[in-house]
Amino acid sequence: MSSPTTVGQRDELVHVSALNEYVYCPRRFYYQRYHDEIGTPYELIDGRSKHQNQSNRGGWVTERYFRSDELKLHGKIDLIESDSEVLTPVERKRSESGQYYPSDEVQLTGYCMLLEDALDEPVNVGYIYLYSTDTRHAIRIKERHRETVRKIVSRITEMTVNSLPPFTDNPKKCEACSARQYCMPYETALLEPEKAQGTGWEDRV
Ligand code: SF4
Repeated sequence: MSSPTTVGQRDELVHVSALNEYVYCPRRFYYQRYHDEIGTPYELIDGRSKHQNQSNRGGWVTERYFRSDELKLHGKIDLIESDSEVLTPVERKRSESGQYYPSDEVQLTGYCMLLEDALDEPVNVGYIYLYSTDTRHAIRIKERHRETVRKIVSRITEMTVNSLPPFTDNPKKCEACSARQYCMPYETALLEPEKAQGTGWEDRV
């Protein structure tokens, strides 16, 4: 078993939930990272102990924390299905719209990559379970998914407080955005229209 991670080391890793946030809007992720509190302390559990732990919950493993210095990722997988020694992460979403999004696939890929790193065996399928429709969707994890995760991890690790990302080009996302009070896309389009060019907000003022 590797030695426990310190708080300082954890900060250098990207949390899997951050992948989802970043895909939604890099700018919102920036505000969450530098203006709000983000992250939850998790108890470290070595993923390699899974074979000892999996059978006592009838084929389910719950709440396992994984980290990988090589992937620069960490996160807690809430639910892992175990079937004939094959482990499959399950990402559960409320999803009032009744569908899952590309950002959910990216997050699930992050979990699959963490799991396969811990097990040292391929994890090529994950599930997205939607509460609203009580449906489970099998997602085949392809190289393009992994490449997306690697790119986002790289962008997040390179992000600094001085590099505010641009507005999203989809104003609909802004309507429900928790960072809007910091971001002010409408006000910016009104007062500094050149900064809102190409965002869709220039047509809304
Ligand atoms: S208000 Fe819009 S552009 Fe600003 S952070 Fe939120 S989603 Fe991104």
